[in-house]
Amino acid sequence: MVKEPSQEHIKIPIAMSRPYRWATGRYLGKLYKEARDNKKLVTNRCPKCKELLWPPRPVCGRCKVEAGEDWVEMSDKGTVIQYTYLVYPLWDPHVGDRVAEDYPNATILLDGGVYLVHKLEEKDPEKLKAGMRVQAVWKEEERGQGLNDILYFRTIEQ
Ligand SMILES: [Zn+2]
Repeated sequence: MVKEPSQEHIKIPIAMSRPYRWATGRYLGKLYKEARDNKKLVTNRCPKCKELLWPPRPVCGRCKVEAGEDWVEMSDKGTVIQYTYLVYPLWDPHVGDRVAEDYPNATILLDGGVYLVHKLEEKDPEKLKAGMRVQAVWKEEERGQGLNDILYFRTIEQ
């Protein structure tokens, strides 16, 4: 018995723009608005355990109580806890653009006491190390992209 040839499928990639908008909600929206308008990082504090919630959120996950509007402005300086040098192409889900260049991505303990993952300006692997002090460098244009309003974190102390 002769097997019938299967149907041939061809794949044609179609690159098209897919603009979309999404609601950030009250709490994340406040963080993004402060970043866009004032180059500030803010978050809210739990009224019961007094911990900073990051990113800002309506309920404290530990205490299960409404977090409310106790807003705290945080420093945009911090300490690199760890980093990973990303060397493959990525898509940034916040803006839909491809991240074209390799870059070091770090977990940064902000001086306010919360952890933030972001890019580092320093790309020399010899100069990258845990414990280095960094500060946010904010974009001057094309703002309104959440925490991507920060270009990267610049080394301020080795
Ligand atoms: Zn709490």
